[in-house]
Parts: sequence; C-alpha cells; structure tokens
Amino acid sequence: MNCPYCSSADTRVVNSRPSDEGAAIRRRRECTVCGRRFTTYERAQFEALMVIKRSGRREAFNPDKLLQKLRIACNKRPITEKQLREFAYTLEDTLQAPEVGAEEIGLHALRFLKSLDDVAYIRFLSVYRDFDSVERFIEEIKQLGAPSSEAEPEKR
Ligand SMILES: [Zn+2]
Repeated sequence: MNCPYCSSADTRVVNSRPSDEGAAIRRRRECTVCGRRFTTYERAQFEALMVIKRSGRREAFNPDKLLQKLRIACNKRPITEKQLREFAYTLEDTLQAPEVGAEEIGLHALRFLKSLDDVAYIRFLSVYRDFDSVERFIEEIKQLGAPSSEAEPEKR
C-alpha cells in the first residue's frame, strides 16, 4: 500500500481492527518515509454481474428481485421455493458474463419456467416488464412453442 502523500511503498500498519460490524478491516498505517499516517479499509468485493436496463443504465444483478417476480408467477403452482432459489442464485454463474441485458435475464427465467410449468411461464410473461415490447413476448412464445395441453383450462 503506497503512501497517498509521498507515494512511498514503504508503509507499516500501526493498528488494525474490524469495522462495519466485521464486514471490513480498518488499518491505520504510517509512512516510514514521510511519517504521515493514513487509514485503509479492506472489504470483500463480489464481482457483480451488471444488468443493462432498457434505459442504458447499469445496475448490479439482484437475484432477490428476480426471485420476487418468479414467486408471483409461481404462486399456487407446483414449483417449490427451493427450485426458484436454485435458479435465481445460480443464474449469475450460468450466464458467465460480466454484463448482460435485462431481457436476457427475463429470457432465461422464461425458459426455466417453461420447463416446469406453463401457467407460471405465461404469468411471468405478464409480470416481467423489462422486455422492449409486447411483440417480443409474442416472439418468445412462438420460439418456445405453444403451451402444452396440460396448461389448458381444467377439463379434467
Ligand atoms: Zn509518505
């Protein structure tokens, strides 16, 4: 850690202690060249997946936000909370990209739901607002194929 005053690389730690309830380590350092003291904070940093919104704004991917939308779509459907969590919390690894369009997230979620339950899939289409347009929804439905007969209104 170079001294911020004289840029010397020769600094020593005077003391260090946990900070921010253990989420960071605060270190008081002293430069051995100019003698001045300064403070550094060390904290863990996730390599966050960035989501590019339609507006062009970037924000860190939030699996909890996605999970919330998935829960709405899967309400009273035969999909477990565990399945949803596994999907939402592993998506970041699945995508393996530093940044991704918001639509891409939605499409992954749609494919995931399609593999489990057609009703939840259709519901998700209506709660997911990050698509460009209704046309994209329709296009996506076509690509995934029409819902299977299981999802048709109760005939049984
Ligand atoms: Zn210095």
